[in-house]
Amino acid sequence: MKPRVGIPRALLYYNYFPLWEVFFKELGAEVVLSGLTNKKILDDGVNCCVDDACLPMKVFHGHIIELKDRVDYLFVPRLISVERNEYICPKFCGLPDMVLNSVKDLPTVIDCTINLRNSSSSLRRAVLDVGRLFTGDYRRIYTAYRKAVLCLESFEGLMEKGATPLEAMKGDYSKAGEYHYSIGLIGHPYNIYDNYMSMRIIDKLRDRGVNVITQDMICSNELDRIARDFSKPMFWSFGKSIMAASRYLIDKRHVKGIIYLVAFGCGLDALVGDLVERRIRKKGIPFCLLTIDEHTGEAGIDTRLEAFIDMLEWGGTAKCW
Ligand code: SF4
Repeated sequence: MKPRVGIPRALLYYNYFPLWEVFFKELGAEVVLSGLTNKKILDDGVNCCVDDACLPMKVFHGHIIELKDRVDYLFVPRLISVERNEYICPKFCGLPDMVLNSVKDLPTVIDCTINLRNSSSSLRRAVLDVGRLFTGDYRRIYTAYRKAVLCLESFEGLMEKGATPLEAMKGDYSKAGEYHYSIGLIGHPYNIYDNYMSMRIIDKLRDRGVNVITQDMICSNELDRIARDFSKPMFWSFGKSIMAASRYLIDKRHVKGIIYLVAFGCGLDALVGDLVERRIRKKGIPFCLLTIDEHTGEAGIDTRLEAFIDMLEWGGTAKCW
């Protein structure tokens, strides 16, 4: 029987799942995903996770609980840095420890460390360490990883054509629909693309005839180029891409407005949100900051979204909270 590797449908699932899936499958494992986020997953996560964790971390814990009894391994990498000279949020560094201390009766947790801040050697080590759990054949491990990287590149290519991660994972994206105008939607991918947490914000905007451009739909080289012009280097990878995307949207994409979706309890969003908002306001572009939290009623988000869209269509430049 194939070993079953559980991958929670949360956090960096929206960035890296195609890579992880191909890698584990090429090593002969069965990949098992947790279900779509729902109220039970959210409640389980909120109940077991430490109080001061942010919403996405709590949701991640709920996915762990949903998966843990169905798999032989749980994949919870310790991500310290995914780009040279940058860091990812500190909560990712301690994620395996949070999970191990918060959730009982776990299967084996694969908690390899990825730290690309100074060199890529930790990635090679992690690939090898994880691969050795399934095979002693080093060549097979590296071949699996190369195939996985190719798959990730084609996934990212589809997103740069305008697909959301979920559309790109299906692999056959073609831009559909006639849109009246575009707006930018920025924020952490796990907030924007998790339909339960974001309350289907992308679908709601598209249903109103709005073309949505997220930071993942912008060429990554372009974002890197913009980030090099920051007055100070932004060493948080998430913050860098959100700030670069907002500048790109302001300067190049002729968007009618920008929405920033933030999660309750996120320290990074508190800082970056202010920097982003100041620049957008200077340019006179309508801006809407939407905060998502543990409440599941959609009325609050719907009302603000409707008001923002109405304002855009009347040609306003106000700010909406
Ligand atoms: S960046 Fe913010 S939302 Fe993301 S894990 Fe860190 S604190 Fe949570």
